[in-house]
Amino acid sequence: MYGEVVAVVRLTPQLVRVVLGGPGLDEFVLGEDADQYVNCFFLPDAASYAVPFDGEAVRELPREQRPFPRRITVRAWDGERRELTLDIAAHGDAGYAGRWASRAQVGHRLQLRGPAGSYRPHADADSYLFVGDESALPAIAACAEAVPAGRPVVVVVEVEDAAGEVELGSPGELEVRWVHRAGRDDVDDLLAEAVAALPRPAGVVSAFVHGEAAETRAVRRVLLREGIVEPERLSCSPYWRRGLDDEAWRAVKAAWVRDTAAETFDVMPR
Ligand SMILES: Cc1cc2nc3c(=O)[nH]c(=O)nc-3n(C[C@H](O)[C@H](O)[C@H](O)COP(=O)(O)OP(=O)(O)OC[C@H]3O[C@@H](n4cnc5c(N)ncnc54)[C@H](O)[C@@H]3O)c2cc1C
Repeated sequence: MYGEVVAVVRLTPQLVRVVLGGPGLDEFVLGEDADQYVNCFFLPDAASYAVPFDGEAVRELPREQRPFPRRITVRAWDGERRELTLDIAAHGDAGYAGRWASRAQVGHRLQLRGPAGSYRPHADADSYLFVGDESALPAIAACAEAVPAGRPVVVVVEVEDAAGEVELGSPGELEVRWVHRAGRDDVDDLLAEAVAALPRPAGVVSAFVHGEAAETRAVRRVLLREGIVEPERLSCSPYWRRGLDDEAWRAVKAAWVRDTAAETFDVMPR
């Protein structure tokens, strides 16, 4: 499957919206989860082929010629126009996904597979808590739109500064708290501190905590230690790891997820 860029919008200095359309998306079928993502294939500068390409054939090429897979959330799917909206974090000149999004123009093509997902706000929850950085903002925005009407929704998002903030909508009673990095590098605990400072939500909470690995792990510890969320209503996923590209991150991600899961009973109240 592949999409052709039909629109590009710079939402914030760090976030680029790319809308894909065209007949290459004829087979696209949206599922039920709010956090669905597609696996996108970004081509190296030296690629001797173009989209659409044969996925099996390019796997035989030398590493520097093969496409780089990156997971990107389905921010929206317009079933009538058959258009797919992706919001991609652009982080300087680093990263195939970020660079592609920064340079995207109408007519460019992107090959992809999917979608798949794993979280939908629990219908039986009394309130919702969604936490993350720019990489999780598309999923958080989609989750906020998918909650039952009238229930409290607290969103905590880390961005660089006020220019990184976007408008979010929800049928719930939405409260958005923006956390600013403001040029800091030592931000592992920034989201966790913001979450620890929130008023304690009443009743059953459904939570979605995705984004940078160390940051999501720190938030997870607070939520479980304080008994704010039960593990079965907490979706926590390390999307990326500061200092590692996606290839290096995927090589150690399973061990990281195992270590994080092993902490569960150490951090929970007895
Ligand atoms: C299920 C899922 C859904 C995702 N959805 C989205 C999405 O909708 N939008 C989105 O932007 N990302 C999303 N991500 C995260 C994205 O896949 C990774 O951030 C990916 O590493 C970006 O690839 P890249 O080629 O731009 O950078 P890479 O080549 O992987 O990394 C290059 C450098 O940039 C750093 N880096 C990577 N991501 C960021 C970032 N967000 N901010 C600052 N530095 C970074 C790396 O640590 C590395 O030093 C999702 C991840 C998963 C697992």
